[in-house]
Amino acid sequence: RTAIRLDRIRKSYPGQTRAAVEDLSLEIPEGRIVVFVGPSGCGKTTTMKLINRLIEPTSGRIHLDGTDVTEMPAHQLRRRIGYAIQQTGLFPHRTVADNIATVPKMLGWNKARVTARVDELLQLVGLEPGTFRARYPKQLSGGQQQRVGVARALGGDPQVLLMDEPFGAIDPLNREALQNEFLRIQSQVRKTIVFVTHDIDEAVRMGDRIALFSQGGRVAQYDTPENILAE
Ligand code: ADP
Ligand code: ADP
Repeated sequence: RTAIRLDRIRKSYPGQTRAAVEDLSLEIPEGRIVVFVGPSGCGKTTTMKLINRLIEPTSGRIHLDGTDVTEMPAHQLRRRIGYAIQQTGLFPHRTVADNIATVPKMLGWNKARVTARVDELLQLVGLEPGTFRARYPKQLSGGQQQRVGVARALGGDPQVLLMDEPFGAIDPLNREALQNEFLRIQSQVRKTIVFVTHDIDEAVRMGDRIALFSQGGRVAQYDTPENILAE
């Protein structure tokens, strides 16, 4: 089943001569990890932001479960799509628990349910709730912040998770551990995941499918890691 369908998307930013994304069509299957890989500036982040409507396409359509995203109210889209980014985007003046509770609170869950959800997510990402609940982001290592970022993105139990270079700032040793950890989490939660990286090794390791972006915002290849490597 297709979760996200991009149909002939074009995006040009004001004042740019060249489009950031050009004639992009892509079907993202449900419950799989699709990795966007390619050099800097080839439209990966732009495509992510188009999917959750942080920006609008110049032309083309995006469907989530068959519904045009422009017909979905913003709050519904935010509930259904979680977003995790490289700098983690954690609120520095809020505790780990408050960071993770962001979306559940927005959804109006009661206090007991929010607390239970926060602890459940901390366990899921391998952080002991009693130890980490009350800490602030700056009291965590880079890898721990990243885990909290993932937990926060999963907060409202979204159907789709967009991850933009989530491990980009992590050193190679810890990065591999986080990749494995994340694959373990995914085997439990089975989300539809779009994962951006410029690291081909990471793409091969993480992806069920890889979309190889090339200059000019086009997808040159869209295939399994095995077939991409065979080329
Ligand atoms: P990637 O994620 O692959 O590095 P981006 O999607 O960030 O690529 O950028 C694609 C192109 O769009 C680049 O040429 C970039 O400079 C341009 N771009 C990205 N964001 C903006 C913006 N807000 N305004 C103008 N140009 C932008
Ligand atoms: P990494 O090598 O993964 O970046 P760090 O050296 O930053 O890890 O941190 C190592 C350990 O010290 C981690 O368990 C982290 O939680 C803890 N830690 C780091 N900074 C602080 C702090 N300011 N207060 C409390 N604990 C901290």
